[in-house]
Amino acid sequence: MSAAREILKNSKRVVVKVGTSTLAHSGSYKLNLYRIEHLIRELADLHNSGKEIVLVTSGAIAAGIGKAGLKSKPDTIPENQALAAIGQGVLMHIYEKFFAEYGQTIGQLLLTGEIATDEHSRENARNSLTALIKMGVIPVINENDAVAVDEIKIGDNDNLSAMVAEIVGADVLIILTDIDGLFDGNPKNDENARLISEVSKIDSRIEKLAGGAGTKLGTGGMFTKIQAAKIATRAGISMLIVNGKEIGNLRRVLNGEEVGTIFPAVGETDRLTVR
Ligand code: GLU
Repeated sequence: MSAAREILKNSKRVVVKVGTSTLAHSGSYKLNLYRIEHLIRELADLHNSGKEIVLVTSGAIAAGIGKAGLKSKPDTIPENQALAAIGQGVLMHIYEKFFAEYGQTIGQLLLTGEIATDEHSRENARNSLTALIKMGVIPVINENDAVAVDEIKIGDNDNLSAMVAEIVGADVLIILTDIDGLFDGNPKNDENARLISEVSKIDSRIEKLAGGAGTKLGTGGMFTKIQAAKIATRAGISMLIVNGKEIGNLRRVLNGEEVGTIFPAVGETDRLTVR
């Protein structure tokens, strides 16, 4: 077990980001209830075991598309804002229902890009999140897509989750997605592409491996995950990219098992050798 993974066993405050491709069916844009239910059981159980969990969730726009019965994502910003307003409620309803089944209280926070540019907004978010965590609540966070446009928009939840991890002083950020991690080629068309287990330095080679945006549903893709990794690791937080389709991966990661790709926190190895 690598030293950077070993240390994950001791992590207490965990930010989990789940992407649209994990939460919604690709054909109908409706929510994948089977997967959401298993994810929530896993999160509730980790919380029961003593971890502090913060969930950053995408899927509002996809859920809005599904609920409105549209076939695809509209082109205009106002329509997408409207779908986010519809879908955020759908999403929270499902989270509320499943978390309640396990006796877990949740609290919703809808953030904007102001947390990146304005220390006052960051402080307000930190106060609210800290209070929720202290109350034993799992904060459930998304970007406020119904009002966040232009300069106040972060635009993707990978970057948002890294900012949240920094704000709450998380021990680890785990990004759940529809692929096993970062590969040294494109696994969709290169059968020799291999999973990179650990990225000790985000250099130009790693940046090149992360192409553009990923699926039709999500905004992310590897590009924004690498951006998130830079924010997190510089803030002293290890980040992982893990396949969210395999139930149990979260637990495995937190047991130090070799799952997905880890970007160890900058200075992690130094800290480990000092111990
Ligand atoms: N905030 C968007 C949503 O909930 C998703 C952004 C992303 O895919 O990263 O639909």
